[in-house]
Amino acid sequence: MPIRTILVGPPGVGKGTQSAMMEERLGAKPLSSGMIFRAEIEAETDLGELAKSYIDRGELVPNGVTIQMMLKRLRSAEVQQKGFILDGFPRTVRQAEALDEELAKAKIELDAVISLEVDESVIVERLSGRIGCTKCGEIYHRINKPPKREGFCDKCNSPLFVREDDQPSTILERLKVFRANTAPVISYYEAKGKLIKVDASQDPDVVFAEIVEKLGL
Ligand SMILES: [Zn+2]
Repeated sequence: MPIRTILVGPPGVGKGTQSAMMEERLGAKPLSSGMIFRAEIEAETDLGELAKSYIDRGELVPNGVTIQMMLKRLRSAEVQQKGFILDGFPRTVRQAEALDEELAKAKIELDAVISLEVDESVIVERLSGRIGCTKCGEIYHRINKPPKREGFCDKCNSPLFVREDDQPSTILERLKVFRANTAPVISYYEAKGKLIKVDASQDPDVVFAEIVEKLGL
């Protein structure tokens, strides 16, 4: 049976890692709005052109357009057959409600919404230790994955830097946005009896095992 899930959690909680593990081991297709925008824009579809017109003006792509693109992917033969893992969408209760409506119309049943949970202090520690290579983009971590020579990339010897996204002030701002917009999405699905809570402070393999267990696979 294909699994149909949504992954939610604050930035830095490990959604990307779990999404990749779920694709590799459970066969479901990860879908993020960024991925879908790129695919539609590259294929020069009407929806893609519409999304691009907003992006080019530096505006947010409206909910309706994002949902239409998402739905097109959800209805595709590949996703119907393999299942899906939505990552980073829905971000707001309004998007969740619109998605629900469209899923019901398309007769697609959601199995579960997986909430990856961890203390904010852990996230700040994880993200603020990240340093990236200015040249090849390799990511290191001061504690978990230090470079062999401090301040320089193992692969290409270029200097390492703290990315804008990983500056402490940016991290706190991103967590604030998450609390304001996406935390209500978690309550929304909890009220619908769809929520699975997973302790994401553990090792990625342990987190994955807990997801599989709680999904009843
Ligand atoms: Zn490098």
